[in-house]
Amino acid sequence: MSQDQDFRPVLEQIAEEIGTLPDRGRPADYIPALACADPGRFGMAVADLDGHVYGVGDWRTPFSAQSITKVFTLALVLAKEGEALWDRVGREPSGNPFNSLVQLEYENGIPRNPFINAGALVVTDRLQTLGGDAAGELLSFLRAESGNPGLAVNTEVVASESAHGDRNAALAHFMASYGNVTGPVPVLLEHYFRQCSIEASCEDLALAAGFLARHGIRADGSRLLSRSQAKQVNAVMLTCGTYDAAGDFAYRVGLPGKSGVGGGIIAVVPGRCTLCVWSPGLDRRGNSVAGVTALDRFTTLTGLSVF
Ligand code: GLU
Repeated sequence: MSQDQDFRPVLEQIAEEIGTLPDRGRPADYIPALACADPGRFGMAVADLDGHVYGVGDWRTPFSAQSITKVFTLALVLAKEGEALWDRVGREPSGNPFNSLVQLEYENGIPRNPFINAGALVVTDRLQTLGGDAAGELLSFLRAESGNPGLAVNTEVVASESAHGDRNAALAHFMASYGNVTGPVPVLLEHYFRQCSIEASCEDLALAAGFLARHGIRADGSRLLSRSQAKQVNAVMLTCGTYDAAGDFAYRVGLPGKSGVGGGIIAVVPGRCTLCVWSPGLDRRGNSVAGVTALDRFTTLTGLSVF
C-alpha cells in the first residue's frame, strides 16, 4: 500500500457496518456526568505521519478523553526522567479492573502499570512534582500536537469526578503511605481529575498521538521521546492499554491502543499512522463496543497491524 493512501473509503465502509451493530453497549455511569452520552454517536479519524487527517461520522465532536490521557502523561514523564519512573510503576498487565485496590498492598504500593488508575496517579504525581502543573502541561502538549488551541477541561466533569472520586482518593492515599506518591494527595487528585476531563475529538487525539507513530518525533519536528522510549510506550499500550481485555484487543485489532471510559480509543500503526475512534457505549470491561469493532475492521480491511 502506498504511504499516501486515502483512508476515506475504508472509513466510510466501517461507519456503514457500525450502523448495523445490534448492541452498542452502555455509557459509563459511575461518573454521572458521562452517563448521558448517546451510544448512537460514532466517529473515527486516521492521521498520517504528515498530519493529514481522514475522518468519518462524529470525528470532529469533542468527547471526554478520560484514560486516553494516561498515554500522554506517561510520555511527558518519560521524556523528563526516563527509566527512573519504572522504579515507581510496573509494566505488566494487572489482570484486575482498572480501579482495583487489591494488588497494591501485596505489591508494596507499586502499581502494575501506568494505565490502571493507581499507575496513572503515580505518573501524574511525578509530572506534578517535576513540572509543577501536571494538567496544564498536558493540556498545552495536546493543544500543540493537535494544532487545536481550543482544547479545554470540562469543569462539570471535573466536579462529577471529584464528587464520586473516593476510590481514586483511596488509591492515592494508600500509595502515599508507601512513599510512592510524594506530593500532596488533594493536589494530585485535582490534577488527575482535570486531566481525565479534557475534551478532544477523534481528529485532535489522532493528531496528538502522532509522535508514537513517528518514533518519538513531535508535530513540530522536535523529539519528545527516543525511538526506544516510543517503542516502550507502544508496547505498554499493547499489553495494558485496554483494561482487562488487552489480550482480546491485541487478538482482534493487533495494534497498540488505549481506551477511556468516555468511549474513545487511540491506536498506533508505528511508522505509518494513528487512529482515534469514539462511541460512548462500553462493554463490561470498559471498552467502547463500536470502537473496538471499528478498529478490528480497520486492521482487517487494510492489513495494517504490528503483526
Ligand atoms: N476518570 C476515570 C477514573 O479515574 C478514568 C477511567 C478511565 O477512563 O479508565 O475513574
